[in-house]
Amino acid sequence: MGKSWFEEAQERIQTAGSYLSLEQEVIDVIKEPMRTIEVSIPVKMDNGKTKVFKGFRVQHNNAIGPAKGGIRYYPEETLDDVKALATLMTLKCAVVGVPLGGGKGGIVCNPLEMSQGELEKLSRGYIDKIAPFIGPDKDVPAPDVFTNPQTMAWMMDEYEKIVQKKAPGVITGKPIEVGGSKGRGKATGMGGFFVLKEALKISGRGIQDSVFAVQGFGNVGSSICELLYKNGAKIIAISDIKGGIYNPEGINIEELLKFTKETGFVVDFPGTTPIDNAALLELPVDVLVPAAIQNQITQENADRIKATIILELANGPVTLEADPILTQRNILSVPDILANAGGVAVSYFEMVQNAYGYYWEEDEVNSRLETIMRNAFRAIYDMFKEHPGITMRAAADMVAVKRVAAAIKLRGWV
Ligand code: GLU
Repeated sequence: MGKSWFEEAQERIQTAGSYLSLEQEVIDVIKEPMRTIEVSIPVKMDNGKTKVFKGFRVQHNNAIGPAKGGIRYYPEETLDDVKALATLMTLKCAVVGVPLGGGKGGIVCNPLEMSQGELEKLSRGYIDKIAPFIGPDKDVPAPDVFTNPQTMAWMMDEYEKIVQKKAPGVITGKPIEVGGSKGRGKATGMGGFFVLKEALKISGRGIQDSVFAVQGFGNVGSSICELLYKNGAKIIAISDIKGGIYNPEGINIEELLKFTKETGFVVDFPGTTPIDNAALLELPVDVLVPAAIQNQITQENADRIKATIILELANGPVTLEADPILTQRNILSVPDILANAGGVAVSYFEMVQNAYGYYWEEDEVNSRLETIMRNAFRAIYDMFKEHPGITMRAAADMVAVKRVAAAIKLRGWV
């Protein structure tokens, strides 16, 4: 059996730390999650029967700031995956230079088969179990796969009931009406867009003369599609959990957004033909955007990828084994901890606004985000160029591990 996702994440930290000539003790501290919480959540379902759900929250590292990271509602969720994702969050926050650590949560459930009422009970039940361990200065959750601003509003409300005071900064990605930040909903896509512009500059091309395929049409996938389309890109294929659509002439995203609002899914969008996920990944496009779930580009299909840039908007869409194959083929894979860090960057802005009780205009959010993403890209690209032969992922890991290690040493943990 191959390595687990978490073992891969640990191996990445080891490699980055060794490259940086860090003391093994420091590397060992960064490799282990500080706290792992496992809970069971009984929920009285609509049919009157109680069902018990399993949930996790992992606080990976808080040397730079409170743990930070989303909560996934995912049928195949495992503790190992949540540990891997929490590790990635520590690295991600360090990559964009926000004063936050890393954490992640997950509940084993299939939200597509649950009613709103059941989801609300599950969300509140989860917070009841982890409330002592979270808070604006401890650990701040956010949306992720199959959770959304409504989920965050329920969770914040439950937390505030428990602590008996307003505490909007306990969670980010909230609806604007209850303390969310303007621009947060589209922040992951927007951050990816800013990074992509930098990456394209290197290859001397623009968004408008590039062809795209996008896997995923949830919050992240749909917002990057909208941005790309507005900027003149041609998107020839898009998929979601139910299936994919293809049109070599380009898909009209404005119409598709109207269509999915009504039907919920991209399949059967007029003027397109069906395409499966595997075929979508291997299309002859300039840029491939995996914006769905982990383990999509592996050693099995890496040599058939035709894109020259991969923008990893999902967490972990490219496996560690696929990386060298892509690098050897001169494919620039912009790693997830850089490409999708716009979400957590604006989460940080949301926390700042909550702390001040003073809210910014969307332009201010986006222009601050652009600065953060551009600086992060440059720091990583410089590292990449300084160390010939490494991947962009290794370069990002090195930038991040260096920053986390500095905080650990200054705190005297080692
Ligand atoms: N779930 C997002 C991520 O994986 C956002 C996390 C956050 O805003 O805390 O980066």
